Amino acid sequence: MTTNMLNPDAGAHILQWADLLARHSEPPWDARGELTATYLTHAHLATAGDLAQWMRDSGFDSVTTDAVGNVVGVYRAARPDAPVLMTGSHYDTVRNAGKYDGRLGILVPIACVAALARAGRRLSFDIELVAFAEEEGQRFRATFLGSGALTGDFDPQWLDQQDAHGLTMRDAMRAAGLPGEMAAIGALRRDPSRYLGFVEVHIEQGPVLVERAVPLGVVTSINAGARYVCEAGGRAEHAGTTPMGMRRDALLAAAEISLFVEQRASLAPGLVGTVGQMEVPGGSINVVPGACRFTLDLRAPTNAQRDALVTDVLAGAREIAARRQISLECNESMRVAAAPSDPAWQARWERAVAAIGQPVFRLNSGAGHDAMKLHTIMPQAMLFVRGGNRGISHNPLEIISAEDATLAVQAFTALLDDLDVNG
Ligand SMILES: [Zn+2]
Repeated sequence: MTTNMLNPDAGAHILQWADLLARHSEPPWDARGELTATYLTHAHLATAGDLAQWMRDSGFDSVTTDAVGNVVGVYRAARPDAPVLMTGSHYDTVRNAGKYDGRLGILVPIACVAALARAGRRLSFDIELVAFAEEEGQRFRATFLGSGALTGDFDPQWLDQQDAHGLTMRDAMRAAGLPGEMAAIGALRRDPSRYLGFVEVHIEQGPVLVERAVPLGVVTSINAGARYVCEAGGRAEHAGTTPMGMRRDALLAAAEISLFVEQRASLAPGLVGTVGQMEVPGGSINVVPGACRFTLDLRAPTNAQRDALVTDVLAGAREIAARRQISLECNESMRVAAAPSDPAWQARWERAVAAIGQPVFRLNSGAGHDAMKLHTIMPQAMLFVRGGNRGISHNPLEIISAEDATLAVQAFTALLDDLDVNG
């Protein structure tokens, strides 16, 4: 298949699909016209329903919903028992989200399979498209739940996690018609020997491509990361009567630590460190903060750089706390390894981008993606698509152009052509 067999309006169609999905939003965001579709809410299930319908309409041979809510479409190869190319991304969202984060990586392969089916063409491999039910960790604390189920990383304790209303994940699953049992979830684990690899298309979620004026970017690695939830303890006392030199102010320790995070993460390119939450539990305007809770989010291109960043930040934090006579406890809430792209798959994306006449631009991913889960069991590589509005994401201002979405479909098609030994 050549790219001119594709619908030239494929990109416009993808934008329309994304608009349709964005109508499914949960209260109270829906009333404000904002998009929020967290795991297994009505909005989330309606999104899954649309995706399943569009996969069927586009010519996928089988479309099923699995035990964690992933929507799985398979477009069969010319011959039975062919190897499988897996692709996909997530359809859950953050709160007040953009329309393309995750969903673009589902809609682009649907458009590609629609073109194959229209042409009556079968490839030398199955295409397995997985619309992952959960990646963002919004309703429950578990993240990458959809892709984690495929790699055998679904923690049985997650079923007992509760959402903000005290509903357990198990009960939320059962209310959605899913079994809510580990036997069914464990069975989702994929046998890597059947798979050629995993590719994921995703909006960049950053400003690099738009600043460089290139529509597509080939991902070289997904950053390693670590997150901590910290609690600083000082002494709550009268804000009027306690002299400055006699205070043990927990908030000031946390503030100094956050400045140290900025300083340390600025030492090398590619490192990022963020204190995204800071609160004084039960604080008052006239009381010296006696406690402060804050978070650390630390990321780096390699595991070694991430580990060095974590070690230095925690040591610096302890030193600041000790000097200020503040107790400090930091608990790790997440640790993910870097996921360098498989060289052969990265090269396939590079050839695909070059084949459609676009410049080959490489970049690493500061954000986590489902591909980093699949990375643990099979080779993977990602393609980024340029976002407008300085690449803003996790925000309703997230946009892409129809032209860039069309280029993503063309590049994906070129990758399928490259891989197809029938063609
Ligand atoms: Zn995403």
